[in-house]
Parts: sequence; structure tokens; C-alpha cells
Amino acid sequence: MISCESLSKEVSIDSPGLDREVLLALWNQPIQLFRLAALLCESTCGNRVSFVINRNINFTNICVGSCSFCAFRKKDGYVLSEEEILQKVEEAETLGATEICLQGGLLPDMVVEDYCLLLDVIRSHFSRIHLHAFSPMEVWHMARNSGVGIRDALLDLKASGLGSMPGTAAEILVDHVREAICPEKLGSMEWSYVISEAHLLGIPSTSTMLYGHVESLEDRLDHLEVLRRIQERTGGFTEFVLLPFIPGNNPLGIRSKASDLLDHLKMHALSRVALHPLITNIQASWVKLGREAAGACLEWGVNDLGGTLMEENISRSAGSLEGQCLSPEQICEIIEEHGRVAFERTTLYQPVERPIPIWREPHLREG
Ligand code: SF4
Repeated sequence: MISCESLSKEVSIDSPGLDREVLLALWNQPIQLFRLAALLCESTCGNRVSFVINRNINFTNICVGSCSFCAFRKKDGYVLSEEEILQKVEEAETLGATEICLQGGLLPDMVVEDYCLLLDVIRSHFSRIHLHAFSPMEVWHMARNSGVGIRDALLDLKASGLGSMPGTAAEILVDHVREAICPEKLGSMEWSYVISEAHLLGIPSTSTMLYGHVESLEDRLDHLEVLRRIQERTGGFTEFVLLPFIPGNNPLGIRSKASDLLDHLKMHALSRVALHPLITNIQASWVKLGREAAGACLEWGVNDLGGTLMEENISRSAGSLEGQCLSPEQICEIIEEHGRVAFERTTLYQPVERPIPIWREPHLREG
């Protein structure tokens, strides 16, 4: 049996990560895994757990993609107008949001200029809000539609105020898994290329993993290895977000093995250990896991609970019953229930220097 004490000596704050054999062995020793993840979390993040006040805006649900895990895409969907987007940003800013997370389906003819226009419109009215927008898939799509290179597309987006990117569309960065679940999406090499180019141009991003469908533990470890390699080269990932697959209303749900609570807890802990010390912010998604399980993950190496979201549409379409929004008070409550200290952060993990805003009556419009 691997002892946590010997491993914690091996994995000090600055040391490189453990090799695959040790990670596989830890997976089968949950208590040791739990203790090591908690120890590494404490040594890198202390007792504090962060969150961001943000709003998701999905500007369209029309998409030319065909991902089998997607319940969000609709044939007769919507496209938000400029006025609707600005209205949503205004509501978010009134509630203290520091970030707008802007993503959408892949509209067939949308080119780089259209995406830049979305950013320009928001920035011209709300200059202080951080624009966290467009996945590597969206960047790939716009560059292809415009007939320009990835670097040029990213430079244009940056000039229009893009502050950082969601590292979504990563799913599992192993091509045989991508073939099975999202064959039309960009491959793992392309995903790595877009995200690395963004980092090298000074556009940081999150990193994510969609797990709990057809992938194996080996695939998950390969995915984490891809992220480690990118981070070693660019240093551009701000965090790692685990996104458990939600099986409702999508074809992949029928052929997937759903994760149970222990799988969720172990996966968060394993990510903490495997990504240490390169990515030190490990986020649990309350909207995917539910509040109770997300809170439990705080004991298993997690130091961030993501955002208030205000208007979550993607998980809700797939059957999540967690609602579209958590107030800062509700997030703080989860954190404090687990004996940790809550703090509000910016998208880029700087502390926000103000008392945490209280939402008494948010009055958000339906998304
Ligand atoms: S996951 Fe995104 S790219 Fe894939 S079908 Fe859904 S909206 Fe389109």
C-alpha cells in the first residue's frame, strides 16, 4: 500500500507530478488519494475557497455541430439580439458581476468579425467587465469560416477585448474517445494548438474535462497529461474544471456509465494530485454535481466553486435540476459548511477587494 506520508514527501510544493503507475495505484486506494489531495490543496491554497460573480450568456443555441452529449443545440433555436445581450450584461453588472462568460452554438456563417462585434458591443458599454469568451472550437470555426489562421483570429479577438477563454470543447483529449462522442469537433492536436496559441498571445484560459461517459481511467490520465504538457510550455491555464457528463436528453446518455459520488470525489482528488504543481486551482462545478456533492469535493482537493452563472442553460438542457444561478451568499454557505473561508476572486484569480455583494432580490430575466 502507498503511504500518504511517503507520497507527500515525494510531491512537495515544487516537485513534478507523480508518474502514471502511482496515479493508478492511488485510484485504487481512495483514502490515501483523499489524504494526499487534501494535503496538497492545503499546502498550495490554504483554507480559502474562491468563487467568481459572473454571468453566462449563450448568444445562440443554433449549431452546425453534432456532439452526442449535447442537449443544448436546437434546430429552431434563438439568436440573441445586441439589445438582449446588453440587457443581460447590465443586469449582471448591477449584481456585482466582474465577468461575462460568452459562448454559443456554431452558427453556420459566423466569421471572426461577427465574434469581434459581440465583444466590441459589450466593451463599448461596459468597459470594466472581464470578457471570458469563445471556446477553442468556436475559434477554430470562426477562423475556418473567415479563411484566416488561428493566430490572426485570436489577435483580432484580443484587440476587441477578449480577456480570457473557457477551455471547453476539450471533452476528453484522446482522439478515439472524440471519434466516439464528437467526431466533427476539432481533434485533440487542434484543441491543444488553439489553446497554446491563445496562451502565447497573452490570452489565458481555463482547462476542463468532460468525464463519466465512454472514456476509461487511462483516457482520463492521458487527458491530464496533455494539459500538463501544455501548461509546462505556456503557463496559461488558470484552473482545471471537472465537468461530469449529464446523460439527459442526448444520445450519449443511453450508452454511458454514469459516475457515482465516489467517482466524482476520486476524480477531483486525482486531478489535484496529477496536475500538481502546474495547475493549482481545481474547480468543482455546482451546476453539474449538485450543491452537496460540489461541497463534498472541497474535502477532496478542490479550492474553487466556479461562478454564480446567473443563467446556466447547457446543463439544464441535459436534465440538471440545480437551477440557473447561485447567489454569492449561497456559495459562501456551501464553503463555510465545510469549514473553509470563502473569498471572491476575479476571472484570473485575483482577490476582489470589496465586501462580498449580497443579492436580496436578483430579479433576473428568464434566459
Ligand atoms: S456541444 Fe457545442 S459544438 Fe457540440 S453540438 Fe452542442 S453547441 Fe454544438
